[in-house]
Amino acid sequence: MSGSDYLKRTAVTRLAVAEDDRERLLAMVREWKRGCQIAVNAAWGVCHTRNEVQQLAYDELRERTDLGSQHAVLATHRAAEAIKRTLDRDGDEAAKPEFTSPSVVYDTRTMTLFDDRSVSLTTTGERVHCDLDFPTDGYQSRYLNEEWEPAKSVLRYRDGEFHLHLGFRTPHPEIEPPGDDATVLGVALGVENLAVTSTARFFSGGELAHRRREFEGLRADLREAGTRNARRTLRRAGDRADNFARDALHEVAGGIIEEAERHGCSVVAFGELEAVLEMLSEAEGFHSWAFERLFEFVAYRAAERGITVVQVNPEYTSQRCTACGFTHPQNRDVEDNHFECLKCGNEANDDYNAAKNVGFRCIRRGPLSSRGVGARYCALKSGRVTPDGEFVPNAELEEVQKT
Ligand SMILES: [Zn+2]
Repeated sequence: MSGSDYLKRTAVTRLAVAEDDRERLLAMVREWKRGCQIAVNAAWGVCHTRNEVQQLAYDELRERTDLGSQHAVLATHRAAEAIKRTLDRDGDEAAKPEFTSPSVVYDTRTMTLFDDRSVSLTTTGERVHCDLDFPTDGYQSRYLNEEWEPAKSVLRYRDGEFHLHLGFRTPHPEIEPPGDDATVLGVALGVENLAVTSTARFFSGGELAHRRREFEGLRADLREAGTRNARRTLRRAGDRADNFARDALHEVAGGIIEEAERHGCSVVAFGELEAVLEMLSEAEGFHSWAFERLFEFVAYRAAERGITVVQVNPEYTSQRCTACGFTHPQNRDVEDNHFECLKCGNEANDDYNAAKNVGFRCIRRGPLSSRGVGARYCALKSGRVTPDGEFVPNAELEEVQKT
């Protein structure tokens, strides 16, 4: 089975880590970053596929770091992904990736999840065993059953605490092939615009980012204080900020489903979240959380309405011109959120252009459709279209619905 045959979800949980184990995990975080950087340094300008980087850098990682064999492999893969994304995004101007984020990738060989809500994690020394710390009625428990199997996960360190972004997957059970005339709504995720649909509906990320910045200001102040009290205040403020974000994301999810229904879409397509995050240079840790929740909320509402939600490979969706198909990193001006095709001059909002391309990826035939889910049309503001340009305007669709 390839990756796209699975439904994927992520559950974020705090870890209850004993004092000795904190040091082990922190050492692991340092060694992981160092390992990824060594692999990038070796492969930069040489190669960028997982296999190539692994061949090239594995031995050096085993020699120069304390990473175990499987984590050495994972670090070479992480380095390969980082190089490839940088090249795809920035083309000739790409700068070598630097690993500064305090996180470590785990897979099922380096992480074991237990039924009693605990996890064991490989480190550079002994394995660390700790409890998952999330609310009893938290959404996380939805995935802790036999229906879902653990998958690639990420350990993150922030504000003196460890969080595990637990990946889960399950074979696609409920995806029925869309009917012959299925229409897909494409959705692009971003920072300035949190979400934009192929029908040109924009959901701003401004208020969320503003609230987040306020919280981060507070966090900086409290961190300086460093007392137990400050830590508790910080946690409360963090929960409040999360609740605000959750409500805002529910609203966006509702808007996306509304848009899908208005345009008669039976499929809603997002880019694969991890890949989208890698492609957004301005995205922060917060966006990883926000995108995962948004996707989950949309999937939840969609299921009640018989709408299928999928994630497609987002590569080049932001670089490709929807008018002529010309694909180039410099087609877009990231700073200005603007897309202008170097070949045909077609201009659009950057995210809107990407949303249409995400939709096109789901279509049965056409230049980008090899991984498509079999929809026939992509919904646009004015009607629906195939990537080959077969277009049915809204007025005509309404006629059909009346008869
Ligand atoms: Zn063009």
